[in-house]
Amino acid sequence: MIQCVKGTKDLLPDSISAWQFVENVFKTVSSRYGYEEMRTPIFEKTEVFSRSIGEATDIVNKEMYTFEDRGGDSITLRPEMTAALVRSVIQHSLMNSSPTQRLWYFGPFFRYERPQKGRLRQFHQFGAECLGSPNPESDAEIILLASDIIRSAGIGEIKLLINSLGNTAVRAAYREELVGFLRSKQNELTEESRNRMDINPLRALDSKAPQDIAALENAPVITDFLDSESRDHFDAVKGLIRNCGAEIVVQPRLVRGLDYYSHTVFEFQSSALGAQDSLGGGGRYNTLFTQLGGKETPAVGFALGVERLLLILENLGRSFGKSVSTDIFVAYASTAEFDEAFNLCNQLRQKGHSVTIDLLRRSLKSQFKEANRIGARYTLVIGEEEMKNRTVQVKNMTRSEQSERSMETILDFEFD
Ligand code: AMP
Repeated sequence: MIQCVKGTKDLLPDSISAWQFVENVFKTVSSRYGYEEMRTPIFEKTEVFSRSIGEATDIVNKEMYTFEDRGGDSITLRPEMTAALVRSVIQHSLMNSSPTQRLWYFGPFFRYERPQKGRLRQFHQFGAECLGSPNPESDAEIILLASDIIRSAGIGEIKLLINSLGNTAVRAAYREELVGFLRSKQNELTEESRNRMDINPLRALDSKAPQDIAALENAPVITDFLDSESRDHFDAVKGLIRNCGAEIVVQPRLVRGLDYYSHTVFEFQSSALGAQDSLGGGGRYNTLFTQLGGKETPAVGFALGVERLLLILENLGRSFGKSVSTDIFVAYASTAEFDEAFNLCNQLRQKGHSVTIDLLRRSLKSQFKEANRIGARYTLVIGEEEMKNRTVQVKNMTRSEQSERSMETILDFEFD
């Protein structure tokens, strides 16, 4: 038996209604905020990601599905959306049509990670990007949109952590200080954090290893380095969010893994997720457009992990029922009535009902069993008598009532 690739998952019909439910939340809540959907290809030229996410990040270094195609081009299955979306916005000059763009997306992403609960190699993200404004109100809007999506999906208990990475000068000064601190602690750090020290020192703060956490207890925090511009921006974002009644926790060690962030970064965490407790997050990225060859365009965005969102809903005991509910099952007494039954089935479908018919030409008894199994609300039966009289038996399955109708009037019958 051929199995699906490690770290990928088949979504079978009984799990689809949960997906359709959250997809509907993404769409309806995003439109309430004026965000429009955008879709880009699953694969991109490798440079889209290597130029933006950062050569020293785990994603680019260890996790990308990169291959050479038959024409010799280096191609990568997208590990995240922001860079791909920015590439597309630049390519199609979208910013020319309006100085701000509000966009959302949903789809599969690919990272070669060690699979475990809540961590896959093909996973899905929903996300949104607000492009064009350097002002704190766009950071606040994006954070409120993300919170609203989570709440509208039925998740009340979620921790929202927020931090500021300041502008480029702030990060440069902080980085120098942090590297000095990490050097003084290098014997206490894990090998991984030691290796990161010079290339991506901020990442050491993300480490979940108890050894690193202990060694970094007194590490300098970036919030102490913010200049007045960065501090004002951060204060305004926090103020706008709190004004709207949302709770936030300032976490000065939150840095997030990607190189392109500046100013606001944030993350949603849920204890229901266990070790992989991050549901999603995002931040401001003011230099990504220029890194990808576009005009300077300030922007802010976030991504939520859809499998993790569903894991939380599962933990909360949410159930979603079947994705299709059948109104009518059309049964036939023998193959002599099949053509008539098949035709009736088709006409009812044209009228907008959800209708099924047995495709195996089984006995009437088996057909009734099937009608019960799929939870049809009505079963219509055509037998020899009915064929002769041009009628059909109408069984209301919930009320166990039966009546007779003519073939003509059944099409306008109210199947309530
Ligand atoms: P990131 O793009 O790394 O900021 O990830 C945003 C969110 O996507 C995370 O918080 C997770 O919920 C989800 N995510 C990232 N990587 C994976 C993965 N390998 N498997 C499942 N979900 C993931």
